[in-house]
Amino acid sequence: MDAADKNPIETFVKWISESERIVFFTGAGVSTESGIPDFRSGTGLYRDNSAEDILSRRYFDKHPEKFYDFYLKNLVFPDARPNILHDTITDLEKMGKHITVVTQNIDNLHQKAGNSEVLCLHGSIEKSHCIRCGAEFSLSFVLEMSESELPPRCQCGGVIKPDVVLFGEGLDFDVLNRSAGRIYDADMLVVCGTSLVVNPAASLIRYYRGKKLVIINREPTAYDRYAGILIRDNLGNLFNKVKNMV
Ligand code: NAD
Repeated sequence: MDAADKNPIETFVKWISESERIVFFTGAGVSTESGIPDFRSGTGLYRDNSAEDILSRRYFDKHPEKFYDFYLKNLVFPDARPNILHDTITDLEKMGKHITVVTQNIDNLHQKAGNSEVLCLHGSIEKSHCIRCGAEFSLSFVLEMSESELPPRCQCGGVIKPDVVLFGEGLDFDVLNRSAGRIYDADMLVVCGTSLVVNPAASLIRYYRGKKLVIINREPTAYDRYAGILIRDNLGNLFNKVKNMV
């Protein structure tokens, strides 16, 4: 048994202090403690099996009003605030570490916490575009709509679509490329709060070449055997301890 097995938290903190370029690869689990449900926990959105269908481009094009009903109730939490994990990652940046956040989340909490490089693989709720003329709209424009006005429409008559990647859509090539590059160059890769089942996002962690891969998740993932440190704890618990140690 080595130090990483015996004292995973101490080793995690030591690895942070030894590393200059750190990538945090995050998923919906980092935001549950900010009150946003994830997909695959017992209380996550996938308790309702149709979530993946509803969040598909095909469904959006066919039933935009039903899509918006689900989307606004289950994925848009404009008042959610960053939690201890988001704040600790920002503190590391303030301490001079080169931090990149590669996130599957669309909730904007890493940006709200103040991280300067956040690569959103699946887009963000903050902006929307008309699918006909490309005009841009803010989240507040969409939130001001009454239920009978949904789906929101542009002046040109086109439906407005949030800038989130739906099932059946491709990821932004530039964001994907930059994420792969940052992971490839990283001294340390910390994977937090993701089931690692949504591809191509999850497979990006294969670009990591270093020896400091940390996976922190309540449940097992298919990548656990590659981790130098594996921590199965609540992220809030862990980062409450880590915050005072870094
Ligand atoms: P997921 O729901 O598949 O997995 C989340 C994982 O986090 C689970 O394994 C769960 O056990 C773990 N987890 C939850 N809370 C935790 C906590 N407090 N501490 C430790 N572990 C915790 O999420 P995913 O892998 O990100 O799934 C991918 C899709 O979900 C992405 O496409 C993303 O866009 C979408 N999504 C995003 C949000 C968001 O932006 N907050 C919310 C729901 C879904």
